[in-house]
Amino acid sequence: MINNIGLKDVYEASNLIYQVVRKTPLYKTNHLSNKLKSEIYYKEEFLQDTRSFKVRGAANFVLHLSQEERERGLTTYSTGNHGRATAHVGQKLGADAKICLSKNVPENKKEGIRNSGGQVVVYGSSQDEAQEKANELHEEEGRSIVPPFDDKYIIAGQGTIGLEIMEKIPNLDSILIPLSGGGLISGIALIVKSINPTCKVYGISMDQGAAMYESLQAGKPIKIAEVNTLADSLQGGILLDNKYTFAMVEEYVDEVILVTESEIELAITYAFLKDHLMLEGAAAVGIAALLAGKISVEGEKVAVLTTGSNIDNEQFLSVVENNKNKVDF
Ligand SMILES: *Cc1c(COP(=O)(O)O)cnc(C)c1O
Repeated sequence: MINNIGLKDVYEASNLIYQVVRKTPLYKTNHLSNKLKSEIYYKEEFLQDTRSFKVRGAANFVLHLSQEERERGLTTYSTGNHGRATAHVGQKLGADAKICLSKNVPENKKEGIRNSGGQVVVYGSSQDEAQEKANELHEEEGRSIVPPFDDKYIIAGQGTIGLEIMEKIPNLDSILIPLSGGGLISGIALIVKSINPTCKVYGISMDQGAAMYESLQAGKPIKIAEVNTLADSLQGGILLDNKYTFAMVEEYVDEVILVTESEIELAITYAFLKDHLMLEGAAAVGIAALLAGKISVEGEKVAVLTTGSNIDNEQFLSVVENNKNKVDF
């Protein structure tokens, strides 16, 4: 147990969140399974109402607020999916939400937040500046800040994915999880390693601007420059005063694998052509690592987190158009 987050926190989350959150399917992908001589399952988190898993942590966080705190409302800063999840959960549980975004966040994500019932506040040109705005709304309007990843309730909420997977495939050999701030992987790895310690846990990030990877190399949380990437949901830092996820990733994650932009493009295209899935870049990094042969899984049962499908339509179509001839049949 690290920083007092344990199995009981995740079980507690699983008793609360399903009033707002869906249990998602584990889908066996035959083409990739045959290609890699293994059994590969996609955990289809893009089927949540907001098209990403982030509703789990947000729901668990808000369900732990008092009635009075809920009435004062919510705020957060986010590359998009967490903001949309906060807006959605707020709407479902009767809490008004103001979501602070930097001007770099793509228009489709702002639209998603508005459609989920949140107000969008555009401020600054980085995640850090958007965060300052959220702090201001906390001070001035008494809104609770729903943290994107480095929080006990957020981590426990995301960990419910691990429970759903272990319930279905207790003898899993490997699990591949997109990695940014590390809330997702911390919660899932905690569960997986507690229930089945021999299961390997891989974190996957893009090769440019991967804050957790660089921090692990440095041995402490460090700040790195944001780089444009198709996996925009994996952008952003891990906080210099990181309290939970850095230590949990160090403890529970076996290896962090990096994938290139062209590997992500190929994975998006592959998932579409073979399984008719529309994945955003961040959600395709596990498939990217497998297609690139960066993780060997022969003979194994493998779960791959497909975390979201919030990609701009035009961007998606052009990725598929440019890569469709590179997918071997
Ligand atoms: C947020 C997000 C991730 C990464 O989650 P962390 O908890 O920040 O590591 C992966 N995929 C998608 C689609 C996301 O929105």
